[in-house]
Amino acid sequence: MTQGLKNRGRTRKDMDERRQAVEELTGAKLIIIANCPFDPQLAEKNVENMIGTIPVPLGFVGPLLVKGDDADGEFIVPLATTEGALIASVNRGSSVITAAGGATVMVVKDEMTRGPVFRARDIRHAAEAARWIEDNLDAVKAAAEATTRRGRLVRATPYIVGRSLFLRFAFSTGDAMGMNMATIASEAAARLIEESTGVTLVSVSGNMCVDKKPSALNAICGRGKTVLADVTVPRALLEERMHTTPEAVAETCYRKCSIGSALSASIGSNAHVANMLAAVYIATGQDPAQVVEGSMGTTTAEVVDGDLYMSVRLPSIEVGTVGGGTRLPAQAEALSMMGCLGDGKAVKLAEIIGAVVLAGELSTLCAQAAGHLGAAHGRLGR
Ligand code: NAP
Repeated sequence: MTQGLKNRGRTRKDMDERRQAVEELTGAKLIIIANCPFDPQLAEKNVENMIGTIPVPLGFVGPLLVKGDDADGEFIVPLATTEGALIASVNRGSSVITAAGGATVMVVKDEMTRGPVFRARDIRHAAEAARWIEDNLDAVKAAAEATTRRGRLVRATPYIVGRSLFLRFAFSTGDAMGMNMATIASEAAARLIEESTGVTLVSVSGNMCVDKKPSALNAICGRGKTVLADVTVPRALLEERMHTTPEAVAETCYRKCSIGSALSASIGSNAHVANMLAAVYIATGQDPAQVVEGSMGTTTAEVVDGDLYMSVRLPSIEVGTVGGGTRLPAQAEALSMMGCLGDGKAVKLAEIIGAVVLAGELSTLCAQAAGHLGAAHGRLGR
């Protein structure tokens, strides 16, 4: 029934004809979806079968004081969400962090991975191929890097199971999130490996990457940017603004994030890291499916010299400031609110994200320590 639709046309006329056909097929009136406030051809590399746009409410938090290497100062951070109370909560955390002197943030690792799987004759053949890759890494790098100006192959880590040889390729990808870049480069490297060793590429992604799936490998080793953030909130400030104490927040974090996450065998131990990531990713044109690995953060809270010390470790923040959805006009505007659009801005964006996640964790743990979470959602979200 849909075969007659013009799937490939990119003009506004093509989009309108396609949407009208969908309206006839479904009987639904797509009046809001029909609104596309930009030239549909700008989304050429982002979507197929385009029929319009879905408006998602956009708010902001801030000013949020961030003390990073690239992000140094106060930022207004755009968040796109349909969860009432989320932005109010993150904004409360942001104001306390700013009043406390800001969040210190660091990007300690920055590599995008792709993990192809090859078929070998047996374990000896797989081990010989792995040895060849180690001995000829410069040639493998040259093959990969011939496909990109910015991408660099940093390492190839082998894992052998029977006749399967897995490689976890790690790439430096400049300011791009880098998944298309790493995939194209991995295929080129894999072709050289096939020709030189006799193993056969089965899939350019063998799930040792690990893209868009929860995995301990990413939680431990990181994927994309590994971000650390911390803040010390003075006791008086916490009591005045959050109506709780450092002891109560530390206990809530220990029993909830540490014991509760261990008991439920969660990967990561935090309050709601995924919430802040999803809202920033949607606002700024990141790939929202990568919230899966982004969510595996660790949140800590301790009483230090009577004050509250809090931190987050975010092992897999996969974001870019060029390419992908960052090309779309509204998402580019959202990035420009933070001075994070284009070349040389990806680490800055990751640092701001680290601080905003810390703000969300602080606020929610305080609300739970004070017993306010249900009331806040009841008041703001229903
Ligand atoms: P991309 O838009 O495919 O590629 C980034 C482009 O930007 C490259 O052509 C790169 O050129 C260029 N570039 C210009 N300035 C750059 C700079 N300063 N730093 C880095 N690159 C620069 O984006 P991507 O980040 O590789 O991939 C993101 C997209 O992949 C998203 O849309 C996401 O949804 C999708 N995705 C794909 C897969 C997959 O398996 N393929 C998986 C998950 C997500 P050079 O390469 O010549 O340097």
